Amino acid sequence: MAYAMDNSRDILDDLIYDGIYRDDGIAVFKGSKTTGEVANWLSAFQDRVNNLAGSEFLEFTAEVWGNNKNDGRKHRAVDATNKDYFPFLDMEMYWSTEGNLQFKVHLKENQILKYLNRGSTHTEACFAAIPTGVMKRLASLTTRTNTSELMRMDELYPMHAKALQAANLAPNIFPTLGEILDNQQTDLTTNDEKGKKNNQDTRTVRFCLGMSKGWNNPIHATLKELRNKHGLTWLRISMSYHKFSNLREIFQGDLNRKLMDGIVSRDFMDRPCNCNRASKIDGKCAYNGECRKMCVVYKATCRVCDESYIGQTQQKLKDRMGQHLNDVKKLITKGIKSDSFASHFANHCKKETKPTSDELRRMMKVKIIWQGNAISCMKSFGKLNCSLCMRERIEILRTIRQEEWKIINNCNEIYGACRHKTRFHRFLKEHTNVKNTSTDEGNKPEKVYKYDDRDGLSDSDDSQESSPRPARVSDVIPPPGALDVCTPILVCV
Ligand SMILES: [Zn+2]
Ligand SMILES: [Zn+2]
Ligand SMILES: [Zn+2]
Repeated sequence: MAYAMDNSRDILDDLIYDGIYRDDGIAVFKGSKTTGEVANWLSAFQDRVNNLAGSEFLEFTAEVWGNNKNDGRKHRAVDATNKDYFPFLDMEMYWSTEGNLQFKVHLKENQILKYLNRGSTHTEACFAAIPTGVMKRLASLTTRTNTSELMRMDELYPMHAKALQAANLAPNIFPTLGEILDNQQTDLTTNDEKGKKNNQDTRTVRFCLGMSKGWNNPIHATLKELRNKHGLTWLRISMSYHKFSNLREIFQGDLNRKLMDGIVSRDFMDRPCNCNRASKIDGKCAYNGECRKMCVVYKATCRVCDESYIGQTQQKLKDRMGQHLNDVKKLITKGIKSDSFASHFANHCKKETKPTSDELRRMMKVKIIWQGNAISCMKSFGKLNCSLCMRERIEILRTIRQEEWKIINNCNEIYGACRHKTRFHRFLKEHTNVKNTSTDEGNKPEKVYKYDDRDGLSDSDDSQESSPRPARVSDVIPPPGALDVCTPILVCV
């Protein structure tokens, strides 16, 4: 869409304002336009977009605000609305009696508002933050006028107030719009001072725990008690909570696991070596036939001094090594610095004579030390917990701990951000003999546990695990009538 907009500026030029959000756009014309005039304009824009896209798949319709804009004729793509407000995304605009354009938050018909319920497992701070957050957002999106600033938030936004009340999070008396906006102003100035103070007051010991209401005392109180009891005055605790997965997430995870069973990425699959004679060493692949594996952590050991470099790549191993070799050559001939790999191997070469790729390949022994599943790896790319970056860090730290002198890497790889790019990839179902595609009865047996009074919770019978037929819930559920004499069962999915 942005491309289409960029290439139709001449058509958009007689607009005072135009903006687009995904597939919804807003345009403000100079002067007043009738539906017929807008229809002409839209068809010119539509032609341009069809031309750019090379197809007619993108189709635009428009709504003109104001019933007086209707020219009485019927237009295929243009309509006039006679409401006294005009909605765009989740905002609505309307004219005040003085003729000023004003804004407030818009709720679509049949839109249902829901907030966290007080009964759920969250910290007090979390519950306190919801109503304040909701009010602040609503207030900052509402035009402040002499009348609106005196109105309470439940009068301005009755639906939001109702939803907060249903979640048991509503304050006794809702503040007025003016009060919230005034407080926000003072908050901004005091926040600056608070930030400075917090920086001086550093808390260095962090505890990260699953949030649970199962403790008798809150966990931070227990930690403080232990600190005082044992005189650990230096311990300044900072708490952070994570949540446990709920039943919906567990079911979803299980379903995903079954759906993705046996599915591999067609574009990141392992492929056999296709090295040409020039890039082989004595007729053998320089990377042990693993040259086209992707999403790997590799270790390149220098044959001269036995030091090693640990690196990671989402590309094919030999493509990445090719870049490394080029870096070495560039450093020697042009003096362009890149990473610790290049400087190490350049040091072993003669100055100012460009080494051949073959010479460089003979200087090192490359081994894959970890390979990730392309589909799950890709999901973590670009995030803090990128599995490929993380695995590289682990391997570097492990080597540093064991034999520090042996590592070529400097610390960039440990502190740097993830630079992996996600890409579209096609899925391929590995060939299996099982024709049934139902997620309930895949080729792997369901996880079934049987509760036994003597042994407690135990795995289902071995005979079921090893039977070629998938174990079903019905195998362990007793027939009707036998229930009163049978031991209770628990089925875990
Ligand atoms: Zn090869
Ligand atoms: Zn070396
Ligand atoms: Zn990464």
